[in-house]
Amino acid sequence: MSVNIQRLKEDIDTLSTIGRTIYGLSRPAFSDEDKQASDWLIQKMKEAGLEVHVDEAGNIRGRWGGEAGKPAVATGSHIDTVNNAGHLDGALGVLAGLESIRSIREEGVELTHPVELISFSDEEGRFGSMVGSRAMAGLLTKEDVEGAVDVNGEKLTDCMAKNGFDPDGVLKAKENSKNFKAFVELHIEQGPVLEQKQIPVGVVDGITGLFKWQVTLNGQANHAGTTPMSMRRDSFQGLVKFASRIDSILKEHGKESSRTTIGSVQLYPGSPNVVPGQCVFTLEVRDTDQEVLDRLEKVYYKSLHEMAEKIGLTVSINPLSAIQATPCSPEIVQQISDIAEKQKLDYLVMPSGAAHDSQNMAKITPTSMIFVPSIGGVSHSPDEATSLQDIEKGTNLLKSVLLELAL
Ligand SMILES: [Zn+2]
Repeated sequence: MSVNIQRLKEDIDTLSTIGRTIYGLSRPAFSDEDKQASDWLIQKMKEAGLEVHVDEAGNIRGRWGGEAGKPAVATGSHIDTVNNAGHLDGALGVLAGLESIRSIREEGVELTHPVELISFSDEEGRFGSMVGSRAMAGLLTKEDVEGAVDVNGEKLTDCMAKNGFDPDGVLKAKENSKNFKAFVELHIEQGPVLEQKQIPVGVVDGITGLFKWQVTLNGQANHAGTTPMSMRRDSFQGLVKFASRIDSILKEHGKESSRTTIGSVQLYPGSPNVVPGQCVFTLEVRDTDQEVLDRLEKVYYKSLHEMAEKIGLTVSINPLSAIQATPCSPEIVQQISDIAEKQKLDYLVMPSGAAHDSQNMAKITPTSMIFVPSIGGVSHSPDEATSLQDIEKGTNLLKSVLLELAL
């Protein structure tokens, strides 16, 4: 039996009216709009027969069916958004999960394992990213909670208290891995690959990790006219030399899944007639394979220092952040792939280049994700879209996977 795509579409349409502005959707975590969306979702989950509770970290959780004491087969995503967002990032995963469970229930089958829908709090990082799933996976610390502020300086603890939560209790949301059998999240791809290859679903085998550096190259600022080219210590030329090596470094030491981005550059003193004495830039490196990331970290470090020495610069590296790469469960990836084949559904096993709640759930239970194509590869924008046919295919696959795991 197929999922009811019209019912799912109505839910998507209704949720996308909550937090609507002229620029898109804005439902930052623990805002009034987020609360309104949460209340609506809780009502929908109850109507679908789920036993619903909201945990100490603000995750909305609802279970249905299964034998008492059995670990749950879980699905879910998030309904908070970035500012001026589209209507599918996160919301589609939650509503496709809800529709899958409704549809399973309508089949009248007896499940061994309960199925659970989770809407994680603050995935988008108003207060630091993936607060809800990190709390569930036990990856959040007291310091994280107490120190979390948004860009306007509002504290997570204050916002939670305003919404009726006890900010001292957030860590109690930590879950025992014994309570879960598996977690499968449906999400829009947020990239161009599936659409370009004209494949309706992706099966995610790993979620990207990354490290981010701020690199400072120091040379000497000097007169642009009187300093001969051979006597300069030009920090920008250092960046150019380093950046021109990135492609060959990735070819030699990276994989197809490797990414390197220099997304921000500042030159000092920043004047047309002065040789730039200082260049400050960011280097962000991603891969789904932690070994590759570790290797690239060493190679980039060495390459920067070799270049600097050769042209008389000094280099200092300030690590800004690092997230470990997360492999998905090979068994769950295989199971999703097998079911897709049975449904004669073309699929692509692929990495996720974006962060998701799944990477935290993977710490406590076998996890994978199902991607559906993003039209134009666009996300975090009101132009975010996925065809209804692809949503239907992805949701039918999700339902079958949950059902097979829960039987
Ligand atoms: Zn998302």
